Amino acid sequence: TESKIKKPNWLRVKLPTGESYKHVRGLVDTHKLHTICESGNCPNMGECWGEGTATFMILGNVCTRSCGFCAVATGRPDPIDWDEPQRVAEAIHLMKVKHAVITSVDRDEVKDGGSIIWYNTIKAVKLLNPDTTLETLIPDFKGETENIQRIIDAAPEVVSHNIETVERLTRKVRIQAKYWRSMEVLRTLKEGSMRTKSGIMLGLGETKEEVIQTIKDLAASNVDVITIGQYLQPTKKHLPVQRFVHPDEFKEYREIGYGLGIDYVESGPLVRSSYHSEKHIVPGYGR
Ligand code: SF4
Ligand code: SF4
Repeated sequence: TESKIKKPNWLRVKLPTGESYKHVRGLVDTHKLHTICESGNCPNMGECWGEGTATFMILGNVCTRSCGFCAVATGRPDPIDWDEPQRVAEAIHLMKVKHAVITSVDRDEVKDGGSIIWYNTIKAVKLLNPDTTLETLIPDFKGETENIQRIIDAAPEVVSHNIETVERLTRKVRIQAKYWRSMEVLRTLKEGSMRTKSGIMLGLGETKEEVIQTIKDLAASNVDVITIGQYLQPTKKHLPVQRFVHPDEFKEYREIGYGLGIDYVESGPLVRSSYHSEKHIVPGYGR
């Protein structure tokens, strides 16, 4: 079902145009890379791509999972592409990206969950781009510590794993995931001395109390950065928007997060997990 509520004007954004946007688009295409910006139809493409930032999606563009909010196709992914880490590193080099965000589909069909490609990608990017900082938005790897440890060993500046929604709605929103397993992933990353980050989408039917509880649970998992944004329905087949949260309510959550000791809280209607990511690596920047 399509969302019946009209989009408020604080969600209207400019269409991507301009030279640097075209430049990024060209590099992404020639390197046969996928971006979450495009597949997620992100409203910030004009801004981010215009600044030379894009979120690369590795391990293909077909996911073994089928989250109700996500525009990435579900199915049997192509075989693992061992050259992909090098292509990502080269694209980042040619784009002269100072800070890159890398994410992936879930590869539950392979034993390592894709964590070896993840490790190789982080290492290849760092080798070719020693000054580029990285945020890696990782899957839960079914909670398997050996796979999570590969990310810790590769040591990107920030490791994010999104909780996406409140505990009650997890089954509906991320059917193959588990709320507490994701909290555990964040804890394991923190024990490995990573700077950790997680994101929540609003407008999927959660109550205010549930949002606050989720912020508390993330704080208890010692998460350093949280992002809170409005859910937008990518196509009619995806979960409908239940409500457009007012910018003032987003501000309230930001204050609550800071009150709980979270280092950086990015909260607003257009906030996406990778939005302003370059600022999230700096401790204390958000205050
Ligand atoms: Fe891409 Fe993230 Fe920017 Fe959206 S906010 S355009 S997904 S980098
Ligand atoms: Fe989308 Fe990630 Fe869920 Fe796959 S696991 S459907 S890429 S949100």
